[in-house]
Amino acid sequence: MDYRDLPIRDDLRELTPYGAPQIDVPYPLNTNENPYGPPPELVADLARAVTEAATTLNRYPDRDATELRKDLADYLAGACHSHGLTVRNLWAANGSNEVLQQILQVFGGPGRSAIGFEPSYSMHRLIALATATEWVSGLREGDYTLDADKAIAAIERHQPNIVFLTSPNNPTGTAMELDVIRAVLKAADGVGAMVVVDEAYFEFARPGTPSALTLLPEHPRLIVTRTMSKAFAMAGARVGYLAADPAVIDALLLVRLPYHLSALTQAAARTALRHVGALLGTVDAVKAQRDRIVEELTALGLPVVPSDANFVFFGVPGGDQQGLWRRVLDHGVLIRDVGIPGMLRVTAGTEPETTAFLNALKESL
Ligand code: PMP
Repeated sequence: MDYRDLPIRDDLRELTPYGAPQIDVPYPLNTNENPYGPPPELVADLARAVTEAATTLNRYPDRDATELRKDLADYLAGACHSHGLTVRNLWAANGSNEVLQQILQVFGGPGRSAIGFEPSYSMHRLIALATATEWVSGLREGDYTLDADKAIAAIERHQPNIVFLTSPNNPTGTAMELDVIRAVLKAADGVGAMVVVDEAYFEFARPGTPSALTLLPEHPRLIVTRTMSKAFAMAGARVGYLAADPAVIDALLLVRLPYHLSALTQAAARTALRHVGALLGTVDAVKAQRDRIVEELTALGLPVVPSDANFVFFGVPGGDQQGLWRRVLDHGVLIRDVGIPGMLRVTAGTEPETTAFLNALKESL
């Protein structure tokens, strides 16, 4: 039976599910994961922590994940110098996707709208539509930066309830100036909208890139989302989080499912945070491979977008990105066609993985 024969919501009929291919290949460079697995000391500690948590699995976990949120506040204070954030400013869920869904459940919904500036992370739109929130496609410039005046005009015209900014942006790797975020916050305040800055890739940004976290004290309607899936190399654990005014977190309590974050997930995340030095120690190696990809593709004469993330977005000579994607895959290297004509995205891997990609690309061009 076709699922469309079922009595699903009419507004879901036109949607297609999120579908980054999960193909078993030697070089998976398509979902912006960290190529380095957790270090052995962390694996051993995780086993201990999970064993301990398992002894009380007959009980529900801490519904508010209080200890984890404290640890996340400490991480942000240490790594991002965002002092003054406490457990009351932090919230965590199963991946930042769930965090985003909770935000849309509270601030979006039927009769409401959200705007994002595309190309950007496709799940912003998909989660908006799944929560019956109207989606407005704002545009980026040709170089994928955001023009503050045009963003303000779009916000004033569409009067959205939620504004999404992604910095560094996926799939382009483009980071945003704080001045642009400030301008958007002002326009959003004018129409009473919440502003979500998705900083999933922030740890990979080049030195000097400011985080929107620094704007939180003056902006009670700002939400900054982060994840442990990328720099922290914990995509399989499904932990994302946000920082915001405590009132935002109180609002999220209205929609979160009771006990949404399992005791095992909380234990794993807290354990990983105790190994933050080793985990983030991989970031420089990943950034070096990212910069190598940018340099080598530029030397090959391909148009390459400067990147502050752990991936690179590049132009395909002749514009046939589907053909090139397939030829690179024939060499065992899985990269990403996000559906933008003439463009492909590749995640920075380890040095050998990146070499495999570069060789495959050269042979496929
Ligand atoms: N935000 C952005 C910009 C992303 O690219 C991703 C993952 N691809 C996410 C959020 C969601 O990540 P997770 O749910 O694993 O935290």
